[in-house]
Amino acid sequence: MKDIIAKRAKLIDASGIRKVFALAEQLKDTINFSIGQPDFDVPDTLKEEAIKSIREGFNKYSQTAGDSILREKISELVKKEIGWGNPAVLVTSGVSGGLLLAFMALINPGDEVIIPDPYFVIYKHIVNLLGGKCVFVDSYPDFDLPVEKIAKAITEKTKLIIINSPCNPTGVVYSEQQIKDLAEIAAKNDVLVLTDEIYEQFSYDGKCTSIASYYEKSLVLRGFSKSYAMTGWRLGYIAAHESLRPIIEEMTKIQQYTFVCAPTPFQKAAIAALDYDVTDLVAGYRRKRDLLYDGLKDKFELVKPSGAFYAFVKAPAKTATEFVERAIKNNVLIIPGSVFSEKDTYFRISYATSDDKIKKGVEILRSLC
Ligand code: PMP
Repeated sequence: MKDIIAKRAKLIDASGIRKVFALAEQLKDTINFSIGQPDFDVPDTLKEEAIKSIREGFNKYSQTAGDSILREKISELVKKEIGWGNPAVLVTSGVSGGLLLAFMALINPGDEVIIPDPYFVIYKHIVNLLGGKCVFVDSYPDFDLPVEKIAKAITEKTKLIIINSPCNPTGVVYSEQQIKDLAEIAAKNDVLVLTDEIYEQFSYDGKCTSIASYYEKSLVLRGFSKSYAMTGWRLGYIAAHESLRPIIEEMTKIQQYTFVCAPTPFQKAAIAALDYDVTDLVAGYRRKRDLLYDGLKDKFELVKPSGAFYAFVKAPAKTATEFVERAIKNNVLIIPGSVFSEKDTYFRISYATSDDKIKKGVEILRSLC
């Protein structure tokens, strides 16, 4: 077996999350704070759109770059929100699919990718898989965008800076000033920025600023998984200023020989999703955020999350892993920060669950301090 598996597969380490699930398997009636997906179902009108599309025969391949009506609609949205006249748009199989295509199109072995730490897990593992080098920039303990440190980390080999706001796992939304400052640094050094905006609708204390509004050399990745609870439908998109169209074309070429296209009937439903108002859903999550934060703030060290549905909390133990094991033995599933970071000092809570479970989970976590 040893020689059968390619060496690159060994570059991915899924042990952190696996350990949580293995422990959880033995438990009943758990409080599950580990899942990174909404607790509501796809809105009925959107389910109907998908069913209608299947019945009407939209079951074959779409164009590689995506359904033309959907792409047009995304293009209009990008024009309105970001101000780009004629953006290049590629519909992808989730933001994960978009990330893989972007990294495959851009990263040569040895290229450096600057990533604020903590970070969403996929970035590290795929960059490693492709022979790139992750350059982590510490953003503890406030988890603001570490602009100065990013500026210092830029070298001749820097290919890309990745930012993710609202952020998984910290729930932090970067301020407009931080975003503008990074845009200035990136422009000065002529470096591409990849902005993962999958949680852009989940911003509770004001609008989330996109760096794309200030910097044309930005690749914008957005998705449908979180906003409409369609994690299993595998839909996302990447948008870029027309000057970056050649990059999108390379990504489209790679999609042609890998994913081929995003799922066709769901692309049709996504057209309707873009008109679906999520204000009430987001208000519900703001309330959950308050419930969790107010329940923990006097016992734990944590930054009040302003977006996504995560809180990143300092573990009251030597290591986060040790505290997570204790929490799991008490039926609360959380993820150790080491899954999202080079440090093992914090843990991630996903509060995408019922208010009742949040209250019970908070009570148990407090008792473990
Ligand atoms: N980016 C971030 C920050 C995420 O949290 C996730 C999902 N957990 C993704 C990308 C991938 O989402 P999907 O592939 O479902 O669009």
